[in-house]
Amino acid sequence: MYDVIVIGSGPGGYVAAIRCAQLGMKTALIEKYPTLGGTCLNVGCIPSKALLDSSEHYHNAAHTFETHGIGLSNLKVNLKQMITRKNDVVKQNTDGIQYLMKKNKIDVHQGLGSFVDKNTVKVTKDDGSSSDIQGKNIIIATGSKPSSLPFIKLDKDRVITSTEALNLKEIPKHLVVIGGGVIGLELGSVYARLGAKVSVIEFMDSLIPTMDRTMGKELQKSLKKIGFEFFLKHKVTSVESKGKEVTVKAETPKGETVEVKGDYVLVSIGRRPYTDGLNAEAAGVKLTDRGQIEVNDHLQTNVPNIYAIGDVVKGAMLAHKAEEEGVFVAETLVGQKPHINYNLIPGVVYTWPEVAAVGYTEEQLKEKGIKYKTGKFPFMASGRARASMDTDGLVKVLADAETDEILGVHMIGPRTADMIAEAVVAMEYRASAEDISRMSHAHPTYTEAFKEACLAATDNRALHV
Ligand SMILES: Cc1cc2nc3c(=O)[nH]c(=O)nc-3n(C[C@H](O)[C@H](O)[C@H](O)COP(=O)(O)OP(=O)(O)OC[C@H]3O[C@@H](n4cnc5c(N)ncnc54)[C@H](O)[C@@H]3O)c2cc1C
Repeated sequence: MYDVIVIGSGPGGYVAAIRCAQLGMKTALIEKYPTLGGTCLNVGCIPSKALLDSSEHYHNAAHTFETHGIGLSNLKVNLKQMITRKNDVVKQNTDGIQYLMKKNKIDVHQGLGSFVDKNTVKVTKDDGSSSDIQGKNIIIATGSKPSSLPFIKLDKDRVITSTEALNLKEIPKHLVVIGGGVIGLELGSVYARLGAKVSVIEFMDSLIPTMDRTMGKELQKSLKKIGFEFFLKHKVTSVESKGKEVTVKAETPKGETVEVKGDYVLVSIGRRPYTDGLNAEAAGVKLTDRGQIEVNDHLQTNVPNIYAIGDVVKGAMLAHKAEEEGVFVAETLVGQKPHINYNLIPGVVYTWPEVAAVGYTEEQLKEKGIKYKTGKFPFMASGRARASMDTDGLVKVLADAETDEILGVHMIGPRTADMIAEAVVAMEYRASAEDISRMSHAHPTYTEAFKEACLAATDNRALHV
């Protein structure tokens, strides 16, 4: 009898398992794939960032080195090597999780986990053999899978999801991306930087529509410069693949049909919670209408000894959100009183410029009727950004009109994925814009842009613009 069985080894599951073991619980982890780490390490965060980094090097070599005074001839892309390096990075990370399981004395059971009852999980290996394991508590961390539209046939050859886009054998000539969200824009960026034409078809009127509207507008301008074209407010109605050609038809807001032809189409319209084969009903666990595992504020299902975390439950589908939830449940199980501030989970888009945000968007503040003031600072005015030739973008700070408390920070620019951490710390400690304005920021750094935006929000007193 284990104290805890965790089903799924993504960032939610493996982190939950480690924290449970640290707290002295006898822990088992079940994973159906041969490698640990889930979507994030195998076909998500890590491989996409590896390809984004490689393609960015190429793009800079092709487009900015000359201005820096570096001449190159015979510049070529070796896509096969790029993918091999990406696979090596993935392996280092997934092997690392295996090591962490051993170090923390967590039993790893490889196979599909399915409930027999509320304390028993059957583990079925690929060869069909199975065994039952028992646990006092069970944490479901089975993650998510790419979703599609009912009329799209994903052949995984020309009509692909993010998983196949991470393993292409050639650079598309023209990649059509359905969906202007994070994953589509990140993977579109990889191939645009390597020379592909990229057309994005998005149903909403803005890219990355859940983020502050300014971010989508700025990002659209930057991505156009590297060969993206955009069809916003277009509803995809059909996708056909014939030989090496794919044709996507979409309806314009006026009801006309446009046709976009390419050689690959990436369907990136979101992800769905994954519970296939879990047999949750055998334990009596309820699902929501959207197929998520239903949980309360303690991430507990309707069956008291069963919890669920990460992409398979409500909330942002992000690795660090899943990790926080893994720690939360482990600590809850030993009687601690952990807390997650969901409003302060940052969101990042690893395009170039990067987009990063935390807290409320301007649209949300308006909707809630909260009075706010805005401070902005463009990277064009940053000495550090001029030095690295990364002047696209800005930092936007939203602060309470009366108290000056920072309510939201939205950044688009160089290395904002790392910069956003300062805003998270500030907001966790309920800093005012003036607090940040009075703190020394090393010069020259991109982080000065955050301080300047806070100065702008405090009293419209940015120094360098
Ligand atoms: C291309 C791409 C890029 C991304 N980039 C980022 C990023 O930069 N930052 C970020 O925060 N997020 C990113 N994400 C999202 C991130 O990957 C997910 O939010 C995260 O992996 C969710 O973690 P999880 O533990 O809930 O589930 P998952 O990582 O999906 O892991 C679930 C695991 O459970 C296993 N499993 C499922 N059912 C069973 C079963 N019945 N028995 C045994 N095992 C089972 C699965 O095989 C899988 O390994 C990206 C996603 C994609 C697709």
